[in-house]
Amino acid sequence: MKPTMIAANWKMHKTLQEGLELAQEIIIYLTTHPLPDAQVVLFPSFIHLGAIHRLLPPYLSLCLGAQNCHDQSSGAFTGEVSVSMLASVGASYVLVGHSERRQYFGESHELIARKIDAALRCKVRPIFCCGEPWNVREHNQHHAYIEKQVADSLFHLTAEQIQQVIIAYEPVWAIGTGKTPDTTAIASMQAVIRDTLARRYNTLVADGATLLYGGSCNANNVRDFIHIAGINGVLVGNASLHVKDFLHMLSALHKN
Ligand code: PEP
Repeated sequence: MKPTMIAANWKMHKTLQEGLELAQEIIIYLTTHPLPDAQVVLFPSFIHLGAIHRLLPPYLSLCLGAQNCHDQSSGAFTGEVSVSMLASVGASYVLVGHSERRQYFGESHELIARKIDAALRCKVRPIFCCGEPWNVREHNQHHAYIEKQVADSLFHLTAEQIQQVIIAYEPVWAIGTGKTPDTTAIASMQAVIRDTLARRYNTLVADGATLLYGGSCNANNVRDFIHIAGINGVLVGNASLHVKDFLHMLSALHKN
């Protein structure tokens, strides 16, 4: 069985010292309360990746990802960060197409597709984020909306490449709001995503895909999400920022 992924997106929070302290608490917790069936991935700021990476003991299923990347391998792009730079400071994963990147930085499907390619070239696993805004959900167009997001940014990949991509379904209206879809709605969306992959690729690819749910996940609801058939983990924002909340969430994974 696949390990349950707990991806912690710290966004633009934490100084270096705060990030190191949080990571250290997580290391102590996982060392004393091992979660052999889970893969915890922390997404700190780019500039803290190297220092936090040096803290990680190799015996833990705890690793790092970046929150974004540039789509080119290198070049005159002042202020940008390439995937090879991220890999060189310990990032094994990279978030691509997070709704905040789409909304505040105008990231298009095409750019997201190129970032996915850039990640794959460097063997850093992309976590492709998709999700509908509330007005789309209200008009019951969310299945078609997600199918199009997946098609527009991922369908250029080969069957071999798509198997390296993790897909996080994060309804935009659930991010940071305390609102979540019910588990039936998440279950239908994961089925829609898998059907979309099956039509473009094959059932092996569709069944093997790693799908996460993200949006207002916390210690009280995480077990509901990870027990949805076809959901392989969660992407967490706010609840990953405070040591008490995050460790509470990890402790919820110990229960059956
Ligand atoms: C996110 O930003 O990816 C996210 C899921 O945030 P939150 O958990 O705060 O809703």
